[in-house]
Amino acid sequence: MAELANCIRCEAVFVKTARDICHDCYRQEEKDFDTVYSFLKQKKNREATLYEIVDATGVEEEIIIKFIKEKRLRTSQFPKLAYPCERCGTPIVSGKICTKCSEELINDLEQYEKIEERIEKQKSNKENVYYSFNKDED
Ligand SMILES: [Zn+2]
Ligand SMILES: [Zn+2]
Repeated sequence: MAELANCIRCEAVFVKTARDICHDCYRQEEKDFDTVYSFLKQKKNREATLYEIVDATGVEEEIIIKFIKEKRLRTSQFPKLAYPCERCGTPIVSGKICTKCSEELINDLEQYEKIEERIEKQKSNKENVYYSFNKDED
């Protein structure tokens, strides 16, 4: 039996394929892509930013971002294409967050892991912890 799914764009029920959107939305998306692409193809628009494209074509920002993420719109071809980092708003061309934010997140995670480790050690080695606490106070 065919597997059914909800389209992530319009929530219509459709027979699941490799896509996560229904056929209508897929067709709409292809149309949007054509609109955006033919806009960008014009020499004077090649350096348009995301917001200029949204303004000029009426295609939703999200969809254009999707095209950039899917590398259908190439930043090598259209140098100003970028979308904001989900954390700080810096323009980025791949992933969800910028390099700076991902470094920060990795640091946070390492900090977190260190704390976890310390708690684990405290749990398994109470006497030593007591001793080192006293030492710290000196
Ligand atoms: Zn749909
Ligand atoms: Zn960022």
